[in-house]
Amino acid sequence: MFEGRKLALATMHQKEKVITPILENELKVKIVVPDNFNSDLFGTFTRDIKRIGTQQEAARKKAIAAMDILGYDLGVASEGSFGEDPSIPFVQSNLELVLLIDKKNNLEISGYAHSSKLKMEGLYVNSIDDVMTYAKKWGFPQYGIILRSNKNGKNRIYKDLYTENDLIITAKKLFSRPFTKKIFIEMDMRAHRNPTRMEVIKQATIDLIKNIKSTCPKCATPGFVITSIEKGLICKQCSLPTDLPKYEIYTCVKCKYSQKKLVTQYGKLANPRYCSQCNP
Ligand SMILES: [Zn+2]
Ligand SMILES: [Zn+2]
Repeated sequence: MFEGRKLALATMHQKEKVITPILENELKVKIVVPDNFNSDLFGTFTRDIKRIGTQQEAARKKAIAAMDILGYDLGVASEGSFGEDPSIPFVQSNLELVLLIDKKNNLEISGYAHSSKLKMEGLYVNSIDDVMTYAKKWGFPQYGIILRSNKNGKNRIYKDLYTENDLIITAKKLFSRPFTKKIFIEMDMRAHRNPTRMEVIKQATIDLIKNIKSTCPKCATPGFVITSIEKGLICKQCSLPTDLPKYEIYTCVKCKYSQKKLVTQYGKLANPRYCSQCNP
């Protein structure tokens, strides 16, 4: 379905380094990144440009923009988000989405990966020594560091700092402004300055390939994936249904054929620990 086709990859932060080898090898497509593609228009992690819509919508807009520039009917974009971990309260986690759009076959297939290793950290500091301390703590220079006059302002945001000297000169410049006692330092979450995030994007690309290879048993369309979950795994102790998933429902995006598969990761019966009767 994809072999020999050209695919537009929407990125300005070198995500092609991890995405291109996997997709070209697995799908036999030819990937092109449009020149000067400005993905910042669709939102930034530095809060100066707000993302409009959901993670899925942002990725879709980026992919379509790149496809339009190149005139292709196949495109991929990725979009990251940071928020509270769905399974561990108060722990921040990073969710990466890699989305493939195929206009010719009217398909949209997603791949996801999730990591709680990466935190989005930032704080006000009042000396150059503090700037250096936090920069080192957050892995500079392998990891990017951003200096800015305010946590949420649109002006004076310095992102392209590569050496200790860049940090010192920029911090001095910011501190020398009138009435400035503190400046804001934060981790750069852009993929090319954040190896941890780049790795999660790679995992999301691998998940995308897995989902593409999962085809509908009825019509063979790629992207036969879990679309919902049915709760009610039976408790080992009291035999009542728990909130743990019992079935995963797979649905074909094209012909709507669906299949129920038993969830196996929690065993045949639920641990009473997850039962609201036995462990209220
Ligand atoms: Zn189907
Ligand atoms: Zn029970």
